[in-house]
Amino acid sequence: MAIDIALVHPLFIEKDPVEKKIMTPYFPLGLMYIASVLRENGYEVELFDCTFRKDFNEFENYIKLKKPKIVGITSLITIRRNALILAEIAHRYGAKVILGGPDPTALPERYLLYKTTDGEFPVDIVVFDEGEITMLELANFLLKNEGYNDLREIPGLRLRDKNGKIISTPPRPLIQNLDLLPFPARELVDMDDYRRAWKKAHGYWSLTIINSRGCPYHCAWCQKAVFGRKYRIRTPENSAEEMKLLKNVFSPDFIRVVDDITGVQKNWVLKWSQEVIKRNAIIPFECLTRVNLASEDMLKALKDMGCEKIYFGAESGSQKVLDTMEKGITVEQIYRASELCKKLGIKTYFFMMVGYPGEEIEDLKLSVKLLRETLPDEFSTTIAYPLPGTKFYEQVRDRLMFESQEWMLDWDYTAENKLLFKREKYNTTFYRWVVRWFNREWKDAWYKAGKKATIFEITKNKIELGITKTIVNLLAQVQTSNIVRFQPAEGR
Ligand code: SF4
Repeated sequence: MAIDIALVHPLFIEKDPVEKKIMTPYFPLGLMYIASVLRENGYEVELFDCTFRKDFNEFENYIKLKKPKIVGITSLITIRRNALILAEIAHRYGAKVILGGPDPTALPERYLLYKTTDGEFPVDIVVFDEGEITMLELANFLLKNEGYNDLREIPGLRLRDKNGKIISTPPRPLIQNLDLLPFPARELVDMDDYRRAWKKAHGYWSLTIINSRGCPYHCAWCQKAVFGRKYRIRTPENSAEEMKLLKNVFSPDFIRVVDDITGVQKNWVLKWSQEVIKRNAIIPFECLTRVNLASEDMLKALKDMGCEKIYFGAESGSQKVLDTMEKGITVEQIYRASELCKKLGIKTYFFMMVGYPGEEIEDLKLSVKLLRETLPDEFSTTIAYPLPGTKFYEQVRDRLMFESQEWMLDWDYTAENKLLFKREKYNTTFYRWVVRWFNREWKDAWYKAGKKATIFEITKNKIELGITKTIVNLLAQVQTSNIVRFQPAEGR
């Protein structure tokens, strides 16, 4: 008996060296929200999760067995190739194939105009922006012939017309009241696989939760496809109820709050903390916020409800670079947020970025100073790369190194960045050494602050610090343009 809809997560950990190394798998919340809405409306929905699968054959066997009438696949630039292969398989067995997520929203043509070797288009429809209501209306139309007379009337779609041109249907209004959405259908995911993988790699296991959609800020390099800039948040009570359910049903050891920004509205956080405590729904968690929002009362409220670690996009110790990025924060705010977290016993993780246009060696020294003086518990450094659709991309458009149009590029794994551009001053080798230099400086500062280490570790780091610093200074004199491949920071 055929099922109505299969929703597919196309990331194979086995095929992705970076994900395999990090081993922090999370099933996408977006698909689980869509599954919930569809089930609530009477559809038979299954989630097909590639995360722990070995190969595409398993999906083919699944499709043969379950014969879903609709296959919905989520995609990112990093897993586009997988998504298209899965789309081909689903199409071969007669399913209507719908793609959605950040990459199809940013580059629908990459999916709708993709052809199989037989010259067929495996992708029928792209869902643009938020997916829940659009997928429900699509299911009503495709499976029951209800709601609309023509596919082109359904808001929030990108389609291919007879001449192979991309057409847009009317815009889909954003969901204003997020409380109306049912909780994500986590029960459709095999959580035992996730629990095992997490426990084996880290000794604990973690789930995700999301409270808000959109971000009102406008960092020049950030691609905010799907949820955009319009900020919406559910009520603190609704979120606290979900945390209670998580605690009682799934018992995760930890939670990652995946909002772009926690704390856009401080009072929301204060109330959220009260509601979680009131329900005895505390689960240790981590979240991401901005240093300009990190007030003491908000951080205290987060700490009281179990917050153990906060990620900050610190990016740089140079105000000039922060301003060029349009980051909307000051270096002083980074110091202040770091101090407050230390005072309250919350761990900090800094995302640092190097290689942004206009950056000089003096700016990098300011970042080193920042790392040494604030001593985040963890940090990672990304070499700036221009995502299509961002201001940064437009700024370096004339220096892009793509061999073809960006929408033709597929990455084989999540860190295989192909978004390269000619740097202004420093070369690839220079940035590789900068990343090492940052790490040695940070370690050295921690050792000086009394972090436990053997004499061997301290001495080794000292020697490496001397070497990396010298090499960076030497390379800074060699002013050549070159391309840079990056290793993305975890959690970016
Ligand atoms: S980087 Fe973060 S704060 Fe900046 S625009 Fe993107 S989501 Fe918002």
